[in-house]
Amino acid sequence: MADTIFEYAPAPESRSIVDIKPSYGLFVGGEFVEGRGTSFKTISPATEEVLAEVAEADAADVDAAVKAARRAYDKVWSRMPGRERAKYLYRIARIIQERGRELAVLESLDNGKPIKESRDVDVPTVAAHFFYYAGWADKLEYAGRGADPQPLGVAGQVIPWNFPLLMLAWKIAPALACGNTVVLKPAETTPLTALLFAEICQQADLPPGVVNIVTGAGATGQALVGHPDVDKVAFTGSTEVGKAIARAVAGTSKKVTLELGGKAANIVFDDAPIDQAVEGIVDGIFFNQGHVCCAGSRLLVQESISEELLDRLKRRMSTLRMGDPLDKNTDIGAINSGEQLKRIRELSDLGDAEGAERWEVACDLPTKGYWFPPTLFTGVSQAHRIAREEIFGPVLSVLTFRTPAEAVEKANNTPYGLSAGVWTDKGSRILSVAHQLRAGVVWANTFNKFDPTSPFGGFKESGYGREGGRHGLEAYLK
Ligand code: NAP
Ligand code: MG
Repeated sequence: MADTIFEYAPAPESRSIVDIKPSYGLFVGGEFVEGRGTSFKTISPATEEVLAEVAEADAADVDAAVKAARRAYDKVWSRMPGRERAKYLYRIARIIQERGRELAVLESLDNGKPIKESRDVDVPTVAAHFFYYAGWADKLEYAGRGADPQPLGVAGQVIPWNFPLLMLAWKIAPALACGNTVVLKPAETTPLTALLFAEICQQADLPPGVVNIVTGAGATGQALVGHPDVDKVAFTGSTEVGKAIARAVAGTSKKVTLELGGKAANIVFDDAPIDQAVEGIVDGIFFNQGHVCCAGSRLLVQESISEELLDRLKRRMSTLRMGDPLDKNTDIGAINSGEQLKRIRELSDLGDAEGAERWEVACDLPTKGYWFPPTLFTGVSQAHRIAREEIFGPVLSVLTFRTPAEAVEKANNTPYGLSAGVWTDKGSRILSVAHQLRAGVVWANTFNKFDPTSPFGGFKESGYGREGGRHGLEAYLK
């Protein structure tokens, strides 16, 4: 990107491993069927190349998918012993590993994220999720919900575009392990890996109707969560849509979990290992182009070290390589859509207008596709919109503090409460600060670490319910 000591030769991952069809239907009752709505195109955000034409599910299509899920639930899946369900989940997990490269390339093409991330983080974590919940399928009496916990029925699941396959795994693996069947709607801009996952379900001989995939935009999601025969709604996305869903299901018997937005504080104390903290800050906000609900988007740095830390951070940011998502040396890929790029630009411009000082990595942006350079703002106050609103892009707001009490107060001064980070050499300070932070996940001397065994979820406007770990089973059992 900027001046480097030496240039890297291009190292593109071949896309010949994926076989993208010109058009895709919906996956209902174990088969691909045509949608009744108009179809839409999904593109590669790095080049704006059209990848495929995808069917849009209308209310009748959603109804057919829910009916298929209900049939599979009543006739097969809810009656099958847990140890048998586990075999299917293990099989799916193994196929995900076997087809890992294909999934990673397709995810990077459709989403714009760097291949080293989809290959080394997303896909392995997806497989780990299926392995982990496969292990629970025959041990549900230890889930903490009594001796004979029961599934809920049909789950309607709606996911966003930032981690298409990983969010699918977080939703589908625990639901199936507990004996539920599912209808899942991926995001409009990233439907392709969910459709490849549908093929994997066929390959695994999963009984028809246990997993159904309905593609489409917001209206398809609305039809799914509002369907009267859906017993459980699981949603990951924006707080705004989450609130609309909560209103839509209020007064029904549907169980709901909502994983919404965040504005996490990443707190660096003066005794922190500074180079390690710089790596953690970079990982916290620039991983996945900052399209991460738990991103460390507010850096709170102790005043006495702020100058030195910012110097080192800027130097490190200048070495980040932005460009072709399929190049194995790429650190920062494309912004997922033109719409998201517009939002990032608007909020960053507001940062300028409100008096914060912008610093961005100097680099040539590709002329095609959607790109935004790694950026930080200093001189940010708590009242600034860039300190309060989720930008969901590679933009860091930097604030300072003098005492631990001030750090905690500033960290908690947000309507969100999904995650936080603490960097210090003192174990006692980690425990004391973590205890006071109102956030579902607190990382200490690390950031953005995910594991299927640990629960994930928020406080306040970041939503409710937990995914992952034993806690994640509770959302799918009665
Ligand atoms: P979004 O607009 O809320 O969309 C999320 C999903 O909901 C998409 O599949 C979307 O469809 C669908 N949808 C839109 N309107 C709907 C409605 N009225 N009823 C039902 N479904 C509807 O969010 P996004 O902009 O795609 O994603 C970014 C947001 O997700 C960020 O705010 C981020 O913080 C949050 N997020 C949270 C977590 C978490 O675990 N807490 C994880 C990842 C992301 P289309 O996209 O096809 O229109
Ligand atoms: Mg796309």
